[in-house]
Amino acid sequence: MQSTCDLVIVGAGAAGLAAARAARAAGLNIEVVEAASRIGGRGFTDTTTFPAPFDLGCQWLHAASINPYTKAADRLGFRYRKDPFVYRIHDGTWWLNDTLVEEFGASLAATYDRVAALGEAGEDVPAARAIDPADPWGSLFRRAYTGYMAWPPEEVSTFDTSRFHFTDEDWPVEGGYGALVAAEGADIEVNLDCPVKSIDWGGSEVMVGTAKGMIFCRAVLVTVSVGVLQAERIKFFPLLPDWKLDALGHLRMGHAEKVGFWMKRNIFAGMGPHFTMLNWDSAPTAGFVCKPFDRPMATLFASGPFARDLFAQGMDAAIAEAKSLLGKVFGADVLKEIATARATGWVSDPYTLGAYSVLSPGGGEARAELARPIDDKVFFAGEAASPDGFSTAHGAYNSGLTAAALIADALK
Ligand SMILES: Cc1cc2nc3c(=O)[nH]c(=O)nc-3n(C[C@H](O)[C@H](O)[C@H](O)COP(=O)(O)OP(=O)(O)OC[C@H]3O[C@@H](n4cnc5c(N)ncnc54)[C@H](O)[C@@H]3O)c2cc1C
Repeated sequence: MQSTCDLVIVGAGAAGLAAARAARAAGLNIEVVEAASRIGGRGFTDTTTFPAPFDLGCQWLHAASINPYTKAADRLGFRYRKDPFVYRIHDGTWWLNDTLVEEFGASLAATYDRVAALGEAGEDVPAARAIDPADPWGSLFRRAYTGYMAWPPEEVSTFDTSRFHFTDEDWPVEGGYGALVAAEGADIEVNLDCPVKSIDWGGSEVMVGTAKGMIFCRAVLVTVSVGVLQAERIKFFPLLPDWKLDALGHLRMGHAEKVGFWMKRNIFAGMGPHFTMLNWDSAPTAGFVCKPFDRPMATLFASGPFARDLFAQGMDAAIAEAKSLLGKVFGADVLKEIATARATGWVSDPYTLGAYSVLSPGGGEARAELARPIDDKVFFAGEAASPDGFSTAHGAYNSGLTAAALIADALK
């Protein structure tokens, strides 16, 4: 294969698909190349393992009222649940009572406000700086924060909290957020199983080397994860400039993984959907999403270094570890009720290499620098390049739209 076009888009996740539609509407002749055998990237719903859809990646419409995927869900007939999150906390022996759970909720909100206030004041320091050493809920804040951000607060900049556009609306998608991402992008023509191996941007045109041949173009939009860029899975000729490498050096992949269990019967009778937080001294940074959409399911959500290491011994070992935690919290008898299990493994997916991006303390404007084009020829988008929606599917989508507008302007 050898071809010519205006723009090559590398990656058909949320960012690449959104950029493709916008670039096409702007009259550009595009080619979208995707390494995997499917579109959606980190938006992926497994529809075969369980009797109901299971999101391996994105699951909640964050900032739902300003999220473009909420409108897409309405248009495409995907339903979502608007109920606020219900938390339960297990201390390794039993459940904390409602008063204590409320006390934790107040402490969590106050600590988050302090993290945001530090960032707004221009203090680009570890989020952990905002934890009050006298707060008895400090260690549970660490766990919760690691759960949201996929990396511990000691190694995440306050800017990632102060700059994210929160609306306190996190709505799960019944038919799967990954399925929604794919359905929304279904009209985009994508060259699948076509990993990009090199981008030569030194000449008057850009040469994109793929597993299926060379594509000559005027510009390239790279939407792959920070993990893939850092691992140099795509070789750039000439090398990326120092300022771009510097930006990449201030970002890292956080880790979030899931192990889903479909139960033979509803083990959460009398309860609604909820999230169980684990809170004992040696507890891993993990929790269980229970009974989503009233389904007989419990999903372990692992995050941070624990999630990264969970898969070191392979999938079976990860499932065994999740089972052991399930038994500890809900009782050993529950293990007899497991019908099927499914684990993720984003950490070892060669086209992702982690869950989503995190800004290191002192990282400053690294996200904006990641988004900044090189010579009006090499453009970047993806969740990590979003100024206020990083780590999410809608942030990726919006970053794709921003990049497409820049490219249309540069190529006109
Ligand atoms: C466990 C987990 C839970 C999450 N939960 C949520 C959530 O509830 N809500 C939310 O909004 N977000 C969530 N996210 C994050 C969200 O899924 C991502 O931020 C978003 O999907 C990223 O989109 P993207 O387009 O930036 O990147 P990707 O989806 O990674 O797209 C990049 C594409 O590039 C492809 N690619 C890689 N290398 C190459 C190459 N060499 N050549 C060609 N193609 C290549 C990849 O296969 C991929 O398809 C979660 C993520 C994970 C892992």
